[in-house]
Amino acid sequence: MLVILLILLLSAARTHAHAYTAAELSAVGVEHNLVPVLVIGSGPAGLAAAFYTARAKLPTFVVHGHEPGGQLMGSSWVENMPGVEPAKGYKIIEDMQRQAVNQGAQFLDGSVELIERSTSGNYFMVHIDSGLKINALTVIVATGATARILNIPGESVYMNNGVFTCAVCDCAQAQDKEVIVVGGGDSAIEHIMHLAPYAKRITLMVRKDHLRAAPVMQDRLKAYNSVRVLYNTAPVAIEGDGTTLQGVRVRNTQTGQESFMSADCVFLAIGHIPHSGIFANLLPMDAEGYIHLPTRAQKTIVPGIFVAGDVADRIYRQAAVAMGDGSKAGLDAIAYLHEYGFNEQLSAELAPYYLNF
Ligand code: NDP
Repeated sequence: MLVILLILLLSAARTHAHAYTAAELSAVGVEHNLVPVLVIGSGPAGLAAAFYTARAKLPTFVVHGHEPGGQLMGSSWVENMPGVEPAKGYKIIEDMQRQAVNQGAQFLDGSVELIERSTSGNYFMVHIDSGLKINALTVIVATGATARILNIPGESVYMNNGVFTCAVCDCAQAQDKEVIVVGGGDSAIEHIMHLAPYAKRITLMVRKDHLRAAPVMQDRLKAYNSVRVLYNTAPVAIEGDGTTLQGVRVRNTQTGQESFMSADCVFLAIGHIPHSGIFANLLPMDAEGYIHLPTRAQKTIVPGIFVAGDVADRIYRQAAVAMGDGSKAGLDAIAYLHEYGFNEQLSAELAPYYLNF
């Protein structure tokens, strides 16, 4: 494989910390579809990373993924983005995408279905479900996570219009409202802490006869007079008039008896699913699939792979944090390539081999 020749040179550059020379390059042939920076995922983390790497004049491609733009695309008003006036989620994504494109980033439709590390370990063969195969010198994983939903009737009808999955993002929707929070873990308690200053009353709906949240978190509930905990209760349908949510049909998990409980808003705090499955053979992750980052940088234990955003963040899960992670991942990828001898001259000489549309 001709790419291997290039990669051997990359290895040499690493060892000897020198830049490539034209003479070296003349001995190098490379396959097509070479990409110095491949960003997987087009949410806030991926777009911030692409903005940074493209601005550093590194040819950068972004794979959109199954959910182009990520979770913000489905968000209602985003009111917690420092420096940004309240805006619709899709508008923030549009602006970020435009910024990245203006710097030269290019976008690919489809999702990555397989990523393999070359035998030398110096580049990555990335297969996209469109059939495209890419040889990437660096990969920034920004595939995000999805909030778990209940998959019950009515849920999709009122999603982001009465049913929400992020209290920090949508707490203002609870102003003077009757609110149900579904879940029994730490996230559910955190939802209550964010919603309590706004809501008229909150019912924490727990399907078991106990909370899973840590005792210290459960203790915090005692500070809220407006909160009650309803055990052994699970939602079976979200109900309303087709436009406005009016309540939840619930089932007592011990007796099986169903009843209707009125509410204005329902917040789901039943966990998240990180999109990390395709990296399982490459990167260490915890039992729930969050990718492990060994340091405060965005680099992983695999040289050349960087991770940003919710796919590695079980705690914050905020767009603003993902953007910060993405910016760091971009900077880490830039430093990595520069350290390994990638420079403007090399880039110009490799241009014929770059992925081209
Ligand atoms: P968890 O998986 O810990 O809890 C999810 C909760 O949702 C459980 O009580 C579960 O019930 C309930 N649930 C799941 N599916 C349904 C359903 N279909 N209907 C009703 N209830 C359902 O998720 P979290 O997001 O709360 O936390 C994830 C991880 O992040 C945890 O490790 C947590 O400790 C951590 N975290 C830490 C925080 C902190 O330290 N400040 C803050 C937030 C999260 P059941 O118990 O019956 O399975």
